[in-house]
Amino acid sequence: MNLSERDSQYNWHPYTQHKTAQSHIAITKGEGALLWDENNNQYIDAIASWWVNPFGHSNRFIADAIYKQLTTLEHVLFGGFTHEPAVQVAEKLMEILPNNQKKLFFSDNGSTAVEIAIKVALQYFYNKGQKRTKIIAFENAFHGDTFAAMATSGISFFTEAFQGSMIDVVRIPVPTKGNEKTSLEALEKLVATNDFAGFIFEPLVQGAAGMVMYEASELDKLISLCQKHGVFTIADEVMTGFGKTGKNFACDYLKSQPDMMCLSKALTGGTIPMAITTFTQQIFEGFYDDDVNKALFHGHTFTANPTGCAAALASMQLLESEAMHQNIQRVNKRHLAFQQKIEQHPRVKTTRVLGVIFAMEFKTDSAESYYGNFRNKLYTFFIANGIILRPVGNIVYILPPYIISDDQLEKVYQAIEKALEEVY
Ligand SMILES: *Cc1c(COP(=O)(O)O)cnc(C)c1O
Repeated sequence: MNLSERDSQYNWHPYTQHKTAQSHIAITKGEGALLWDENNNQYIDAIASWWVNPFGHSNRFIADAIYKQLTTLEHVLFGGFTHEPAVQVAEKLMEILPNNQKKLFFSDNGSTAVEIAIKVALQYFYNKGQKRTKIIAFENAFHGDTFAAMATSGISFFTEAFQGSMIDVVRIPVPTKGNEKTSLEALEKLVATNDFAGFIFEPLVQGAAGMVMYEASELDKLISLCQKHGVFTIADEVMTGFGKTGKNFACDYLKSQPDMMCLSKALTGGTIPMAITTFTQQIFEGFYDDDVNKALFHGHTFTANPTGCAAALASMQLLESEAMHQNIQRVNKRHLAFQQKIEQHPRVKTTRVLGVIFAMEFKTDSAESYYGNFRNKLYTFFIANGIILRPVGNIVYILPPYIISDDQLEKVYQAIEKALEEVY
């Protein structure tokens, strides 16, 4: 049996209907933007393995930092104890986050980062004896797969089976071009009720929806409106954080500042699962009391794992380097040139670019479902061409490691152009 066959005996994969899915490609090695499978086929990882890997696979700088930490202090509980890497991660983040962010809480993944933000929003008002028990979210949002995160997610087939067992969430339209006014008006109605504890959003780019983009100035209006009515704003930067949009955080494009931020994915350069939720001083003080019951009774066994923190520190060091800034700009310029080249193609409906993110919508006769037939054809086509892209519906997007070479990027573009001619 090869690795892929051994895998299929026992492993249950994410977002997979095993009855109809093809066998899983067994990857044996990664280096830079490249991956190799057990038959030595080479792939360009054009989506940074679900948006986690900005600095390349098997990055030596991060690996060395992890090894050093593993052989110094691999883990210690974070209840009652602390350690240098956790303090350093906090100090470093405080330098680069919006300056209203003053406290941070560690967890393990994007969903838990969101879960914590929502629990904090709800408990803040509970602690104050105010009845604000609902959350506002965007249509087609994705915030993760645990219960509160799922409740705020709006991609229906992810959540359908669980209706009735979720927290109360009301959705508003995304302020994409043409929808700015309906979005703002919907929010105005909701915040006026005083029922809502928080508004969660993916700032500027809705990743899982297919890299749907909207203007910072529109988000500013929504945030200001929430803040005027005492509704906490929660920026889910799990996907957008750490350079993807061309700045450290998508929120750096805003005039306003969110009350909470959720970070994960690229936080550790795609090495060790870790997440962080950050808060304003005001929020922290809503829990700061002589009454022990007002504390945040939330924690995970591996909270602030020192090895994960060491990986995060090394990653942030790489992110800050001049070389990485240049890489981000280089990828962005290439994307813009490619956009110009293909936007007039008769099969191209729309294109959009922000930072290292490129997205293109195929013109199709009918609406393509998220994991539908056309999407599967595209996915299989790209894999056959040695490119890892995971289209959603009729949308193909690129979100490569920042260190991807010009040649490798060119191969990804060529595969998309070929798909425009060959995949129907
Ligand atoms: C991926 C993602 C999450 C969930 O993160 P996990 O680590 O998969 O739990 C949450 N929010 C956004 C915006 C994401 O892209």
